[in-house]
Amino acid sequence: MAATTPRARPGNTVQSHLTPGPILLSWAAAATTLTLQLQLTDRALLEADAVAVCSVICSVAQDLGLARPMLDTPTAQIGTMYALVWIEVLATTCFLFPQAPTQMSKADPLDGHRAPLEVPQRTSHMPQHQLTTVDYSYMLLNTLCMPGFFYHYVCLMRAWGFDPAALYSLVRSLGLATPLPAADSVAAAAHAMAAAVPGVAAALALYFMSYELVYYFWHRAMHEVPALYKWVHKHHHQQSYPDRPAIDTLNTGCVESQIGLYLQLGTLWAADKLFGVANVPAGMLFIMAAGCLSVLEHDKFERALPFDFWRADEHHMHHAYVKCNYSPYSSFWDRFFGTHKPFAVKGKRKRAAVATYLCTQSVGRVACPAPLMSDPPPEGNRPPEGDRELRVRNALELPGT
Ligand SMILES: [Zn+2]
Ligand SMILES: [Zn+2]
Repeated sequence: MAATTPRARPGNTVQSHLTPGPILLSWAAAATTLTLQLQLTDRALLEADAVAVCSVICSVAQDLGLARPMLDTPTAQIGTMYALVWIEVLATTCFLFPQAPTQMSKADPLDGHRAPLEVPQRTSHMPQHQLTTVDYSYMLLNTLCMPGFFYHYVCLMRAWGFDPAALYSLVRSLGLATPLPAADSVAAAAHAMAAAVPGVAAALALYFMSYELVYYFWHRAMHEVPALYKWVHKHHHQQSYPDRPAIDTLNTGCVESQIGLYLQLGTLWAADKLFGVANVPAGMLFIMAAGCLSVLEHDKFERALPFDFWRADEHHMHHAYVKCNYSPYSSFWDRFFGTHKPFAVKGKRKRAAVATYLCTQSVGRVACPAPLMSDPPPEGNRPPEGDRELRVRNALELPGT
């Protein structure tokens, strides 16, 4: 199914509605985070890691017959190390979740007829939050805080027994000039990995369930406490139909962004202290998966993990309806607390009306904002797309009058 161009038409954009107070608070939070991160960083340890990483890079380059990279200063080495982290995160995200064909409709369990999804794919007619200098400043500051967060995360993994030197030597051993390992040592390694799978899976489940529970209440509080919504979370909801994965993820108030990230570390730390579960592979998978899923649920493609453990459209529903689907990844806690809102088709009349409309459209276009007509977002923190009639017309792609 062809994707449509996510470019807004002039006059069909959502202007920023933030006030100076929350903006200043966000900048102050980022400055405080950066200052604390600098204070709480062991520069010698960071440089030692960067030297080790760069020596691996030089070793691999040598194996490949390439020129030795100029990485002689600590700043270049640290910069290279963090650049590698970013490349690895992006590559993992793209590799694990290639763009799936967008599913525009879903079989109704009642009668089997296919009906359009409730959250429409973005089209050029839909309201789009135009990025301003404030948005760019938030994205820049959140990005600048990432290396410090990553450093603290590695410190926690070290405390759990992670040995970066072992990782470096493993990567070195994969070099082209190194002879292949003996078959029995490969078999022993595979056996050890297989034996570790149940423990890793159990720890991963604990980390996700714990973090999602904590974040559920934090996210819900940000919507139900007006001051928290205004001062912390409102900025993220300027985009009612997220479709810019990295931008719509990073474009978050710095207070919310840093609390969300460090809650992940706090969850890992607490799981160790409370339950004695300090599993390095699970801790790494948790942070990696959390980052990937956060980005991917802000793009316009419909994606899902097996058994619908995670569905991107559930977070799309949150942006469209606001007071539902507070958990960041799985729907478990939303189902438990009664705030889960899956894609659904409501009412035969509405289904028939939308189906009739769809018949008049070209293949691949979608019109599915039925809930915008029957189930508007609650008062108080409704997304600012303008009046209701305009929103319905925009989402249905009906011509203006
Ligand atoms: Zn979001
Ligand atoms: Zn929210």
